[in-house]
Parts: sequence; C-alpha cells; structure tokens
Amino acid sequence: MKPLFSSLQGLIHSIRARLVLWFALILAVVLTLFSVIVYFSQVHDLRSEMVDRLEGRMEDLEHTLRSSDSVSIDTADLAESDVLVLFNESGQMTFHWGPLSETQITSLVQARLSEPTETILYRDVSSGERQTTYGFMLSPRMSEQKISGFVLIGAPLDPGERLEKLLITLFLGSLVTLTVALLGGFWLADRAMRPVADITRTARAISETDLSHRLNLNQRDEIGQLADTFDAMLSRLEAAFARQRQFTADASHELRTPLTIVNLEVNHALAAPRKSAEYQRALRVIQAENEFMSELVNDLLLLARMDAGQGAPTRERHDLGDLSLEVLERLSPLAARRQVQLEAGDLPETPVLGDRQYLIQMLTNLVENAIKYSTRADRAAVVQIETGTSEDGTQAWVRVSDNGPGIPAEHLPHLFERFYRADAARTAHDSDASTSGSGLGLAIVQWIANIHGGDVRAKSRLGEGSTFMVHLPLAK
Ligand code: ADP
Repeated sequence: MKPLFSSLQGLIHSIRARLVLWFALILAVVLTLFSVIVYFSQVHDLRSEMVDRLEGRMEDLEHTLRSSDSVSIDTADLAESDVLVLFNESGQMTFHWGPLSETQITSLVQARLSEPTETILYRDVSSGERQTTYGFMLSPRMSEQKISGFVLIGAPLDPGERLEKLLITLFLGSLVTLTVALLGGFWLADRAMRPVADITRTARAISETDLSHRLNLNQRDEIGQLADTFDAMLSRLEAAFARQRQFTADASHELRTPLTIVNLEVNHALAAPRKSAEYQRALRVIQAENEFMSELVNDLLLLARMDAGQGAPTRERHDLGDLSLEVLERLSPLAARRQVQLEAGDLPETPVLGDRQYLIQMLTNLVENAIKYSTRADRAAVVQIETGTSEDGTQAWVRVSDNGPGIPAEHLPHLFERFYRADAARTAHDSDASTSGSGLGLAIVQWIANIHGGDVRAKSRLGEGSTFMVHLPLAK
C-alpha cells in the first residue's frame, strides 16, 4: 500500500504530471467552450429554420382559409405532431388539432388573443414519455381592417433530433480528444523529462573525491543547455578542488622543510655540550627559519582571506609615488645588505583609490623580489621604481625594474601562480630569511592589483633584467 501511495505522491509532484494535467485542463476548457458555441449556433439555426417553416405554412393556411371561407380543414395534410388551432374573433376555439390539450392551449395563448401582431412562442410539450420543444406562431386573421379570428400553428423545433445527435457527437469527440491528448501529452512529457532523470542520477553519483562524471548529453534544447551548464560547473568544481588539494599539499610541503631544519638544529645542539658560538649559530638558523615560517603563515592567511572573499580593500585616495618612496625607504637596509642600489625614478603625482596597507604590500613584494633576484656577479645590481599615468588619463602605473639575470620565457606565464618559483634550486633556504621565498609573493601582488580594478604584467630578458608593471585606475 505504502509504495503505491508514495509513487502516486511522486507522480503528483512530478513536473511531467503537472504539465499534462494543466494541458488537459486547458484543452477541456477549450473543448467545452467550443461545444457550447456549436450547440447554441445549432439552436439558433433550428429556430430560424422553424420560423421560416411556420411562416410558409401560415401563408398556405391563410390562402386556404380565405378561399374556402369556412372552417373546413383537410386534416389529411396535417402530421400527428403538428398543431393547428383556430379561434373566432371573441377568442373561442373553433378548431383544434395536435398533441396539446385545451388547457395547455389556453395557457399558451392567454392574453395574446387581442394583439393584432404575429407572435412566436416556444414551449416544452410532453407527448407520451418524451418532452419535445415546440415552436408556435399565433397570427390574427384580418378582414376589412378588423380582427376576425386567430390562427395558432406549431411544430417541433427539432424534428430530426439533430440537437441530441450533436450533443452526443460533441461529448464523444471531446472525450476521445482529451484521452488522446492526455496519453500523447504524458508520452511527450515523459520523453522530454527523461534527461532530467539522467542529470539527477549523475548528480547523485558525484562525490567530493570523484568529480570526473559528466553528462555529455549532446542535446541542443533547453535540457541540453542545462546539462552543458552542469558539465561546465563540474569542470570548474573539479579544477577548484584540484587547486585546493594542490594548495594544501604545497603549503604543508613549504612548512615541512623549515620544521625539519629546526628539528635537526635543535637535536644537533642538544646531542652534546657545545661551545657558545655553536649555540649562537644554531639559534640564528632557527630564527631565520622561524621568520620564514611567520612570513609564509602570514601570506597563507592573506590568501585564505582572499579566497573566502574577505578583506575587501578600503577606497581612500593615495599617491602611488609617495607609497613607492615609503617602500624604498623601508627596504633600503635589505638593499644595502644585498649590495643592491635602490633608485627612485620619475615619481609624479599618481593618485589612486585604494587600501594603503594592500598597496604597500604589493609594492614591497615587487621591490623585495627585485632586490632578492637581481644579484649578479658581473655588474652592480640596480633596482628602479617609477610611476606615471597613461596617455588617455584613465590609468595609473607603477614600474619596478632591475638589471638582474632575468626570468626564462617559459616561466613568465606561471609567475603569478601560487607557490610557483622560477628557480627552485636557488630558493632553497639559506641563513638569510630575506632571500628565501615561498612562491606566494607575486600571487598576492596580482590579487591586490585585481581587487583594485587593475592588473600586473611581467617582462623579462635573460641577462638584461626584469620589469614588473602594475596598472590601476587613476583617481579623478
Ligand atoms: P617568492 O616568494 O619565491 O619570491 P614570488 O611569487 O614573489 O615568490 O616570485 C615567484 C618567482 O618569480 C620567484 O621564485 C622568482 O624565481 C621569480 N621572480 C620574481 N621576481 C623576479 C625578479 N625581479 N627577477 C627575477 N626573477 C624573479
């Protein structure tokens, strides 16, 4: 009982059933309207046909009555269902033929036997068990401008029973049409909805660990579009999950190296009594690794916040030139230590709307990279920062360039990916935390540029140096 009930409930709640039921309902209304119109136009036709018939007969009758001038009617001409009644000028019945009783006739013509005009009347008359609608015509007989009597003639409205046949035809026709429409509609809706069941099944089969299922419906209708959208969404989800897995793996990997180094140093220092210089060396290594880890964790937190859509930037007016000078000042100790010459190029007023903290971080990452990666044996390293506005006056730009060894072309498209390093071997940690990198710096630069409505591009020539250029909308 229960499965039947639940499958019935399922059917009622299915789009298929609702579609078909609505369709059938509309069709039923249309068929009913159609039948009503056809029926009444038939009634109208029957009535006008009958009036024509009665008028014809009345004319014949008047002719006979006038020529014979008596009340001798040849009843052989009359059918059993016909009605013919004659009245004299004072309204008394002088002749009577047909299925109507005298009282019925009196009630029919009552009060009308003084009107000098022709009247059409309809009444239901029962003859035997059947009720038949009759039409009557009551007409005054005139002689010398005076009413000399009345004639009442009548006949069944629908002698051939056309109305009854029409009703049966309309009813059966509607029934058959509705049945065919219901069955056909259900079949069509079932066909149209089958891909939806496929989509549901696939969606159920998808788990977080396996996003490789696709519908591949290859249909060009709405359902096909839905399936394509669904497939595209799955692809995006799969890619997003893969990125996330990669991100977690990379982050753990990055943290594992410094943790291992710290562990080794501590174990080594504790294994036996050491000289104080050795302890100092160990502590410096631990300090460097610690700094690296703090920076990495900060970067990871920032990335996590930006992935979660948090950390929307404030929009205050800042001058990119001023911010650049500030960053140069802050990084000059690092540059001095690395023997890199920091230069401020042209820094005209370049107003942008943005978040001071983010903009400073963006510039710091770029200048820091330039300092870190520009050291070379053959000439003095120079890092330059410049700002300016585009010719059409819509864009502000800041350019950080160095004369370092440059970046091989195959790395350029990937520089802004998370954890990407152009030269993995070189970035293995040394004791100076400032030279180590986790590959997150440029990803953060790109994110900051993007949330300010701008972008960042890298250009580089091997042996000549690299240039990073950020474009941001110019504040009015
Ligand atoms: P990292 O934390 O390793 O510096 P970034 O995302 O800042 O990560 O940079 C990614 C990689 O791009 C770096 O590992 C480095 O190889 C390369 N790179 C970035 N800036 C420069 C530059 N000015 N000159 C040469 N290589 C650079």
